[in-house]
Amino acid sequence: MQLASSHAFPEPPLAAMWQLSENSRLGFRLAGSTLQQGFGAGKYLIAVGDTASVVRYAWPESLKAQQQVTAQSLAAQVPMDVKFAIIGSMIDSMVPNGNDPTGGFHEESGVAGTTTSGALVISPDQPGAYSNPDTSNHVSTNHTAVDQDQRNSIANVTVMWHIHPNGQTKTHNWNQPPSDQDRKAAVPGPINIVLGARDKTVYFYNSGNMNLHMSLHDFMVTQ
Ligand SMILES: [Zn+2]
Repeated sequence: MQLASSHAFPEPPLAAMWQLSENSRLGFRLAGSTLQQGFGAGKYLIAVGDTASVVRYAWPESLKAQQQVTAQSLAAQVPMDVKFAIIGSMIDSMVPNGNDPTGGFHEESGVAGTTTSGALVISPDQPGAYSNPDTSNHVSTNHTAVDQDQRNSIANVTVMWHIHPNGQTKTHNWNQPPSDQDRKAAVPGPINIVLGARDKTVYFYNSGNMNLHMSLHDFMVTQ
């Protein structure tokens, strides 16, 4: 019994994680004699030549959970009121305010979560500082809540969002997807969202390599 050099796995991304060792008598089996906590296991048939073999494999459950996350599954977890608040932030980023005389050259952001009794709280931030992409490569959020008492009532943060603005000069505009800096700052736990005000795309990200996105329209209609 021999594994071919390339295997067609029923769950392809798990292939990198499988742990097998060959035992001349038993065929292939798990590298460890027992499954460690946090690992899942499965088995499937592979055909090598005329021989069908049962292969057992294992993967960390945490990895599996990560891979089942899709843009749709994340969008479905964002309450409709929060989605409208995110659109509200996008509109706020596009219209003039004290710092930004035309709109489109500052970020807006916010946090949503629940109180200890489970009530939804939506807490926008104050507008970020004006920035011009001709003279700066960075535009940032203002992490100060509009209403700090309201922010303090959040016991469990579930969604954090900010808007990448739509402002354009003759030669420059703002990148729409999450930046490296956004990823470094991503807090584990909440759903982290960047909405591009120009490309109308919702980006989900974390401090790792999550790279999921969908149109604003699909985000709004996914429940
Ligand atoms: Zn950003």
